[in-house]
Amino acid sequence: TVGTAPTVVIDAHGLPYLDRRLPVRRRVDDLLARMTLAEKIGQMTQAERAAVADDPGRVARWQLGSVLSGGGSTPASNTPAAWVEMVNGLQAQAMTTRLQIPLIYGVDAVHGHGNVYGATVFPHNVGLGATRDPALVERVGHATAAEVRATGIPWNFAPCVCVSRDERWGRSYESFGEDPALVVSMETVIDGLQGRPGRLADDDRVLATAKHFAGDGDTDYDEATAAANEGRPWWEQKYPIDQGVTVTDRDHFARVDLAPYGPAVRRHRVGSVMPSFSSVDWTEDGLGNPTKMHANPDLITGELKGRLGFDGFVITDWEGIHQIPDPADPTNGGLTGYKVRVGVNAGSDMFMEPNTAEQFEQLLLAEATAGRVSQARIDDAVRRILRQKFALGLFEQPYASAANVDQVGSAAHRAIGREAAAKSQVLLKNSGQALPLRPDTKLYVAGRNADDLGNQAGGWTIAWQGVSGADTIPGTSILDGIREVAPQARVTYSADASAPTGDAQVGVVVVGETPYAEGYGDVGGPECGWCTVPQQEEKSLRLQPADRAVVDKVCAALPTCVVLVVSGRPQVVTDQLGEIDALVASWLPGSEGAGVADVLFGRRPFTGRLPVSWPRAEAQVPINVGDADYRPLYPFGWGLRTDPARSRLAAVAADRPQVRAALAAATWNADGSLRNAPEVLPLLGRQLRGGDPALVDAILAVVRDAAQAAVVRGTAPADWAALIADAEHAQLTGDPLRAFTLLVRVVR
Ligand code: BGC
Repeated sequence: TVGTAPTVVIDAHGLPYLDRRLPVRRRVDDLLARMTLAEKIGQMTQAERAAVADDPGRVARWQLGSVLSGGGSTPASNTPAAWVEMVNGLQAQAMTTRLQIPLIYGVDAVHGHGNVYGATVFPHNVGLGATRDPALVERVGHATAAEVRATGIPWNFAPCVCVSRDERWGRSYESFGEDPALVVSMETVIDGLQGRPGRLADDDRVLATAKHFAGDGDTDYDEATAAANEGRPWWEQKYPIDQGVTVTDRDHFARVDLAPYGPAVRRHRVGSVMPSFSSVDWTEDGLGNPTKMHANPDLITGELKGRLGFDGFVITDWEGIHQIPDPADPTNGGLTGYKVRVGVNAGSDMFMEPNTAEQFEQLLLAEATAGRVSQARIDDAVRRILRQKFALGLFEQPYASAANVDQVGSAAHRAIGREAAAKSQVLLKNSGQALPLRPDTKLYVAGRNADDLGNQAGGWTIAWQGVSGADTIPGTSILDGIREVAPQARVTYSADASAPTGDAQVGVVVVGETPYAEGYGDVGGPECGWCTVPQQEEKSLRLQPADRAVVDKVCAALPTCVVLVVSGRPQVVTDQLGEIDALVASWLPGSEGAGVADVLFGRRPFTGRLPVSWPRAEAQVPINVGDADYRPLYPFGWGLRTDPARSRLAAVAADRPQVRAALAAATWNADGSLRNAPEVLPLLGRQLRGGDPALVDAILAVVRDAAQAAVVRGTAPADWAALIADAEHAQLTGDPLRAFTLLVRVVR
């Protein structure tokens, strides 16, 4: 047979499962029929790289289906080529097994391939949510996939489609926002990762994972646990909210927490799903505990695989089944047959057993042999896993080529990162039109996050918890970006604001958080055993005292003061707001700080909108759109713009006479907002029905501007925050007329 090399090998074998011309279903059936129980169990098992690093032969002896790199587990030389070599080395072991079933390697590339030195690091999801730009987010997904696959890895444990309802959660930045409709709109990232149906084998696509199913962002903050932690060493502390309990009713759970999964499965055809460490409180596990998601057949099998028709595979989270309480082992120590049985029977297909892979296999073999786990359940699990391996083309191309390593951190991907960073910036306050800055301004730049790529990248970068530091990853810090974008600006930089402010006209103070991942949502306190960043940070959503001091100092000394908050979640700034002229929520913008400078200097307009409510005080948290008595400092959907509303309207007016008429009738305030709203808004409102998306967006943007201007002027009604947030929700759920009506009520 003439063809590519793998085809020749296939024909030589004459085995149907190796024949790429046959439909996947036949190949799966054929392969499954040849497999022993032990081989099937091997396919269901995933070990961590560290567990096989010193003895790669384990991949073959344990017949592993998968290996992962948990956060921070990188090859000794963290280069793209070293990753390819490492993955291929393990694959070579899998290729020595009887049936030569390829491994599927997985990583967390949750904001670009942050595992790899030199990768493009995109804004974390909270920032992507702020862009309100699904097409951009799809491009981010595609660039991420290209970089991940270029390092030999076909599988990404992303996106987190969590709906973050409480910013004390240490993973809230992994969420696109607090409104399920916003999260759903951002699931285009799955298309970017996986490509169109049937394209998974392409060398720039990877299998995606929707996680963590479900309710991970909606667990109750447990005050008692938090109080009990006080004064204890970190290893004795329990998370007050991460991996907690969703205390709610089924109706709320369906509307908020499950909402992203229908579209992820049906519209975007996500290939894998990861259950959450959390529990729901409406069922209990027989021991009086709320049922762990990993032990919940109603949700994993009934809801996800049954009602939603998910046909990919379910991968458990890191030792997720170890957390299932075993009645025979009240101390809840390690893995037991009971936990394995309950986990498999609940419906998970592959088991992330980083350091206990072999033990897991032995326990599952015993459970299956004793008939406590059925053959049918095991076959279903293996079928699902194999289907994706075939779809990824791994049987044809088990080995990765190093030919694409120049994709990692490419100029094209960095340009997407820069655009995403720019569009993620949310302008919260802009008195006296402090922003954009003039390119020849005399600037005084201060604050510990102005020149720290590690801090602006956040957690899940190089190490699980992230790494603070100027040069932890290649890219541009915000300070670098300022220098690049405005070469004529005379810049004095002093991280702690100890240098004299001289004759500077504008201060730019960049403060906020240092990296963290999971757990407490801070760096874990003074005795934190894994932290790589400055310790003893307060467990709070307030700015750290040193940050507050820098803001005070610079804002007191200079006529104009711009504050950027680089953080995974809102920081309470209410009592310093009076001294701040312009306030920007920068989120965790990633490796391309130049994008932040682009909006500061007006190279691009500020267009971002809040993906979460910005609280007035810590005591307000949790605070979410739709709450009764909703009075945040800035509501969900808030975001000032620096591109004139008039030019936005002009851009959509061309062949629309009514819009041109509205434009002709409009007069404008100095801040760029509409002056004669009562006259012009009705003309615009009539254009919404049947309007195309660009027109609808432009009209809503103009009304939103007018509404926000009314708030700033102090002429808005008392319930303005709820009106703006509800309007945002209405727009996201495809009801622009309602959004318009609500915003008009703020203008009046
Ligand atoms: C996290 C997951 C992640 C996994 C593998 C777990 O601790 O909860 O989101 O995919 O580790 O790194």
